[in-house]
Amino acid sequence: MLAVIEEKKCVGCGLCANVVPDLFEVKDKKAIVIIDMIPSELEEIAQEAKDSCPVEAIMIS
Ligand code: SF4
Repeated sequence: MLAVIEEKKCVGCGLCANVVPDLFEVKDKKAIVIIDMIPSELEEIAQEAKDSCPVEAIMIS
């Protein structure tokens, strides 16, 4: 699975990075994905981060 941040939507709230710091980081007020492939052990929590993003900027596929 891959996570992608839609940069234009992201408001830099930091929620995703708080939920999954091994996957997301906020730099210059925008979230970035710090690993390319989501390891299986992080898939569930990555989905939680996606669901909690206030502007639906996270896509997971
Ligand atoms: S939770 Fe959404 S809006 Fe907040 S930093 Fe992450 S991607 Fe951006």
